[in-house]
Amino acid sequence: MSTLYGMLLTDVRFVEGLNACMNCGVCTAICPAAEFYNYDPRKLLNQVQLKDESIIEELLKSETIWYCGQCMSCKTRCPRGNTPAFVVQALRKLSVKLGFFVESEKGRQQFAIKRTVGENILKYGYCVHPEAVAPSMHPEQGPVWQWVHENAPSVMERLGASYQKQEAGTLRKIAIEDLDELQSIFDVTGGTEMFETIEKYSAQQAEKMKLEFNDQTPNEYFFNVYTEDNHNHQRNL
Ligand code: SF4
Ligand code: SF4
Repeated sequence: MSTLYGMLLTDVRFVEGLNACMNCGVCTAICPAAEFYNYDPRKLLNQVQLKDESIIEELLKSETIWYCGQCMSCKTRCPRGNTPAFVVQALRKLSVKLGFFVESEKGRQQFAIKRTVGENILKYGYCVHPEAVAPSMHPEQGPVWQWVHENAPSVMERLGASYQKQEAGTLRKIAIEDLDELQSIFDVTGGTEMFETIEKYSAQQAEKMKLEFNDQTPNEYFFNVYTEDNHNHQRNL
């Protein structure tokens, strides 16, 4: 069986992202996530390049790998040409593949992202779409969304959007053949498999946590991962 480090090496982003880290800390100095979270890209790269299986497994189960905002500032500054953000991408992918993501609060949120942004892409062709916004899920903005839903035709007309129309313009209806093509892209690139893996391990985690889990969004487990906050993510200043 391949080692965790061996599996990381099969990811082109890992190979591209980690040449040799000399622990200078420039990436951490520029990293906006390190400013707020218990997160340090210098430390993360150092941990990975130790090739220690237990340290890598710990990382795959940790909150740490989910803090990076993928702004790519580290890519532009590293004197060794490393890209910590690519290493993070590879760690995240492996964490999902092996089901380790459900061990952390931020990791479990992958389920909420899959059920919202992920499914919106395949259903509407947009990450965020007015039809998919449930006012009840947004305590502050909810009433505004409710009003937008009730007045959608006039609101969209005033915004100059081609909402739900099959013509050029913002928020136009995406043709079914284009949505089918998107689905095919997900199928051949591993996106569909990744979604299925997120569902599988999340269902198992819901059972462990004794929370309701089904095809409906939201369900009890969805609400839990969507709202859970252990308040241990921010850096102590
Ligand atoms: S800037 Fe580059 S060499 Fe320096 S700690 Fe970060 S990844 Fe390592
Ligand atoms: S991409 Fe991630 S690790 Fe790099 S600077 Fe941005 S937040 Fe930090």
